Amino acid sequence: MNKTFRKTLVVIGTIAIFVALKFAAQEYWKYINTPFFQTRGVVLFWDDVNKPEKLDWIKLCKDANLNTISVYAHDNVRQQEDYKSFLERCKAEGLHIDYEEHAISILLPRTHFAEHPEWFRMDENGVRVADANCCPSSEEALEVIAKNAKKVAKLRQPTNHKHFFWLDDGRPVCQCDKCKELSPSDQALIIENRIIKALREEDPEAMLAHLCYDNTLQAPTKIKAEEGVFLQFAPFYRSWDHPLSEREAQRDGQKLTHGDYLDALAANLKVFPKETAQVLEYWMDVSLFSGWSRPQKRLKWNREVFLKDLETYASFGIHHIMSYAAFIDADYMEMFGDVSFVGEYGSGLHKYREY
Ligand SMILES: [Zn+2]
Repeated sequence: MNKTFRKTLVVIGTIAIFVALKFAAQEYWKYINTPFFQTRGVVLFWDDVNKPEKLDWIKLCKDANLNTISVYAHDNVRQQEDYKSFLERCKAEGLHIDYEEHAISILLPRTHFAEHPEWFRMDENGVRVADANCCPSSEEALEVIAKNAKKVAKLRQPTNHKHFFWLDDGRPVCQCDKCKELSPSDQALIIENRIIKALREEDPEAMLAHLCYDNTLQAPTKIKAEEGVFLQFAPFYRSWDHPLSEREAQRDGQKLTHGDYLDALAANLKVFPKETAQVLEYWMDVSLFSGWSRPQKRLKWNREVFLKDLETYASFGIHHIMSYAAFIDADYMEMFGDVSFVGEYGSGLHKYREY
């Protein structure tokens, strides 16, 4: 091997090492700058955000590195100028907006019952009733629900393409001959599969939540989710005094242990993709901790439990986290003067990395 050839090899080798190191450094830089939790947000009521001069949730979210606000607001509120300017400000600040609500009674108006009782659920006594939900075996009912979901989605236009049309809150489902062998989760999925198809006719990127909560905690076993339906896990009856990872822990007076929740989450993640799965937590839900009555109580923020829970959710491969923060409003600010836990919440989510 002559001298020139050896020199050439050394130069090529040096360049190769330099390129590899540069690539590794870029990848590492990208990794440490990309938050593990892609969706980081809060679920609020309109009354929580409509007095920004006293409590500015948009600024609070920006400062805390949160990127999504879900605001539950009635249609008449959505017509108001202050609501529209709230949306404009969110847009200008790069915050996503979506809307999460129990919706079947809205999508299938109860006024149809007189003419079409077969669209509605059958109770355990074999009687059609219009109290909640619908009969998912009724093609016509599904058609009406899907059409109305499409209409509502067009009005709201969530900026992250995510839609939330949950079953009526904790209410029973259909017991007719065709439905009674289907669990509430399976019944919900039949409805969701129909809705997502309708939503995707308008927006091919549309996504629809399957809420895993209360009577839909167990994974569906008979119905397969259409593409675009994502898991939304909401451990409503857990204890927030203990991390979810403590399997034996449970809230006073509740049947479910944290172990039950972890098992249900694992089973659901065998049915739904983990990449799109989202958690709906209650770490900052002053409305829940105040029994939904005012004056509200001061939040017992437990940072250790929250951070431990993030580890748990990350271990399942979940990258999307929202928490209720309802009743943290102008009155809360006036009474307690401190919402620094929002910063800790956002920073915990933003800084989390999987090592
Ligand atoms: Zn039925």
